[in-house]
Amino acid sequence: MQLVKKVKIYPTEAQKNTLWSLSNLCRLVYNFALAERKDAYADTGKGVSYKKQQNNLPALKKHYPHYTAVYSKVLQMALRTLDANYQSFFALRRNKYEKGLHTSLHNTGNVSRFVGFLAYKAERLGKTLIEIDERNTTKTCCACGKRHDMPLWKREMICDCGNSLDRDRNSAVNIMARFLSQNALWTSYQHFADNMRKTGLSIDRCSYEAPSERVV
Ligand SMILES: [Zn+2]
Repeated sequence: MQLVKKVKIYPTEAQKNTLWSLSNLCRLVYNFALAERKDAYADTGKGVSYKKQQNNLPALKKHYPHYTAVYSKVLQMALRTLDANYQSFFALRRNKYEKGLHTSLHNTGNVSRFVGFLAYKAERLGKTLIEIDERNTTKTCCACGKRHDMPLWKREMICDCGNSLDRDRNSAVNIMARFLSQNALWTSYQHFADNMRKTGLSIDRCSYEAPSERVV
């Protein structure tokens, strides 16, 4: 346990002046050190450590002799305070970032709640809601089934099978094909493939699990 002890001092006028000038010097050191950290961050993306700033104190005293009157521990204390403020500033930022992350995860939860609601509504209307797993539908070539790396900036799926297609269209074709094959809608799948072929896209070699028996 740490107890706080308050001590009231009664300085003389001269002492008061000394204290004021001390606190002023500390404030200046604090501001210098802060500016140094900001500059370093702007230039290199990295901060300056407390240790490094402390090691610069002797050079500062050489440059500005009035600092020699200040006890080293006092200046170090100013730098330590800055360091602590910096740490809590970044901790706060990190906290905010995590909160944002939490919010987006929360939204994912909302999506699944919405799907649940939709399924309930569909059932009441005598319809079935079918969820299609969207995983890899962007990465998979819808013509031959080959997987490709598709970072977000890549707007087109270009496959060595000759297929080249807008990434969202490629994904949409995959989702449709997945839906039709998963639900054994073989005739619909054939229609879909025929329509695709008419637009110049062959999905005959589609790698999705074709239904084991044809439902006609
Ligand atoms: Zn392909």
